[in-house]
Amino acid sequence: MIIPIASVLAVAVIAFILVVRPKDLPPPEPPDPFAHLDERKAAIYENLRDLQFEYRVGKFSEADYQKTKKDLQSELAKVLAEVDRVREGLASPALKPPKAPPAEPVKTKSTGLICPSCGAKFEKELKFCGECGNPMKAAKS
Ligand SMILES: [Zn+2]
Repeated sequence: MIIPIASVLAVAVIAFILVVRPKDLPPPEPPDPFAHLDERKAAIYENLRDLQFEYRVGKFSEADYQKTKKDLQSELAKVLAEVDRVREGLASPALKPPKAPPAEPVKTKSTGLICPSCGAKFEKELKFCGECGNPMKAAKS
């Protein structure tokens, strides 16, 4: 009885993935954050051009023309403000100060400065310890 149940389950899962999931998925985000704003901007400019044309051919009264133009221009201002906001959001990471360059490697384990035999410290590297006379470089094991 296990195999029929498993295959029914598998078919149900596949059907769920194929049929149900695509509807639930949100539309893919535009890769360019400016793309939809550019589209809106272009649409508003086009509306403004159409409006001017229709006003010139007498389809609009002066009052209607001015009102519609004002509406379109305030919408355009909103889109342009949004563009600025997105641009600032994108630019701000670049404005952060660059990471400090990695610090100079500190010579804490220099074998030539501390005698591995007696532990005497010296200002500069020596081949042999000035205290005990043993080689300063620890034998590499
Ligand atoms: Zn020594």
